[in-house]
Amino acid sequence: MLDKQIEKLIAAEKKRQKKVINLIASENYVSKDVLEALGSILTDKYGEGYPGRRYYRGTTVVDEVELLAQKRALELFTLDADTWSVNVQPLSGSPANFAVYAALVPQGERIMGMTLSHGGHLTHGQSVSMTGKFWKQVPYGVAKDTERLDYEEIKKIALAEKPNIIVAGFTAYAHIVDFKAFRKIADATGALLMVDMSHFAGLVAGRAYPSPFPYADIVTTTTHKTLRGPRSAMIFSRKDERKLHNKIDKTILPGLQGGPHFNAIAAVAVALKEANTPEFRKYAAQIIKNARALSDELARLGWRIVEGGTETHLLRVDVWQNGKGIGGREAADKLEEAGIIVNENTIPNDARSPIDPSGLRLGTPAETTRGKTEKDFVKIAQRIDKILRA
Ligand SMILES: *Cc1c(COP(=O)(O)O)cnc(C)c1O
Repeated sequence: MLDKQIEKLIAAEKKRQKKVINLIASENYVSKDVLEALGSILTDKYGEGYPGRRYYRGTTVVDEVELLAQKRALELFTLDADTWSVNVQPLSGSPANFAVYAALVPQGERIMGMTLSHGGHLTHGQSVSMTGKFWKQVPYGVAKDTERLDYEEIKKIALAEKPNIIVAGFTAYAHIVDFKAFRKIADATGALLMVDMSHFAGLVAGRAYPSPFPYADIVTTTTHKTLRGPRSAMIFSRKDERKLHNKIDKTILPGLQGGPHFNAIAAVAVALKEANTPEFRKYAAQIIKNARALSDELARLGWRIVEGGTETHLLRVDVWQNGKGIGGREAADKLEEAGIIVNENTIPNDARSPIDPSGLRLGTPAETTRGKTEKDFVKIAQRIDKILRA
């Protein structure tokens, strides 16, 4: 590179990434092919519009790129192009979610989403997010005793509040979501059902987690978490007389965005192909085995695991333990000093503040990509225990 300052910073970040154990549940390491597509000359092309109907000329090649990404997305999740549509242009997860609401929920109306502190995402209608300013959040959480979803309670709230859309799929929830139960609730209240599978899309792709597609009207996802692609997002919607997909496409462009990032779309296509392999299915299964090994060993060493364990790629550890332990921030700092990268996280009904909460969120996708297995995660749990008790 001619730009030595940026070259040096990239080299420094590469070195940092190599050195640490990365337990950030939303991060991963992409393949060389994904990086190559992302760093390609496709970034130079403008192409506002959709394949076959662009506002720019010279788009025959990028049309093929976008169509291939769409085809691979539908194939990966075994969806039929007659019943499902996919938009691969959203720039990231947050704008994808915003676009769905902007397309389908009148301003000022209601989005039912999980409270942030229980494991929901900002874009599920949280007040500090624009999704909570343009629309009104109908919050729901997890049960106090089990810290898991209580579908009866969710139904009660939905019947009372009549939200326009119900959002299922979270950033910090360690158990399998019952999408069928959410479908029944949506039907009982006349709401749309959106599943935000950003966190577990790779597990669905790898057949290690149930598919939300049989039950959802809309599925949104980031492509850079368990799916192991570039930083981007997709919106799937059912094709029927409600014309959800037409409304969503129009909201993305011209409503919200300009030119698609074809380099990112190409890199998504590469990741989707990689995810549709026996190796990736093995990877997805290993992610969960590793999370279970980490969770079980931490529990054995005396740490309280939120929700009582994990069925997915992540877990939350209550490190504060009602004052007997240490704060989440201090715990994350100590671990970082020792080369283990995690993030502090609230736990349901947290007695502490979101800036210095009671918990840590740990995830296994990144280190599983690097080839770690259960025995490595047992050792990582023991190291974490030692560091936190020092
Ligand atoms: C990560 C995430 C998002 C947002 O994705 P960004 O690409 O960071 O904007 C949205 N929803 C959920 C559930 C997520 O986990």
